[in-house]
Amino acid sequence: MTVRRHSLSWSERLYLPAVARGLAITLRAMFRPRFTRQYPEEPMPKYPVTRGQPRLVRKEDGAPACVSCGLCEYACPAFAITIDGGETERFIEREPKRFEIDMLRCILCGFCEEACPKDAIFMSQELELAGYTREEHVLGLEQLLRPASDFEERMRYVGEINHRWHATELAARARTGNKDAAAAGHP
Ligand code: SF4
Ligand code: SF4
Repeated sequence: MTVRRHSLSWSERLYLPAVARGLAITLRAMFRPRFTRQYPEEPMPKYPVTRGQPRLVRKEDGAPACVSCGLCEYACPAFAITIDGGETERFIEREPKRFEIDMLRCILCGFCEEACPKDAIFMSQELELAGYTREEHVLGLEQLLRPASDFEERMRYVGEINHRWHATELAARARTGNKDAAAAGHP
């Protein structure tokens, strides 16, 4: 197949129309409102939907809400989480003795938050990450724990999302005839 080359006209060879169009775009942009944010003096706005770095919930008695089930470690696609569980004397039989998240591996996907059956890990609104060594980005239990009050908005948001998903799933099952599961409310 032969592709015929488009020959440029005289005005096209001058490139002046294209230059004029480019300048017009630049001029228009000069008078538009600016979007420059003076970061870090002007931090990014944060909302419940903001998925910052994952953090662990500390209960009112000071203990982690985590029961060291390992589901978040299993769900993490980046292999960023490492947990060593241990026995406790309290009514909760297990808790993490070691809980580490390698923030250089974490891709902020939120799968750990979704996987957790104990509402013990949430995506925080902490966005900044800086350091001089790789080791200081591997955060341990004490660096990860935050009071539950820090996650109130996020908890509400995640609860609403899950409720919406559950309602949609039940409706879909009812439509496809799996009415028993829908009526029983099985996810
Ligand atoms: S946010 Fe995603 S990548 Fe980061 S620790 Fe959780 S599951 Fe792993
Ligand atoms: S899924 Fe939740 S309870 Fe289980 S190990 Fe992870 S943070 Fe802890």
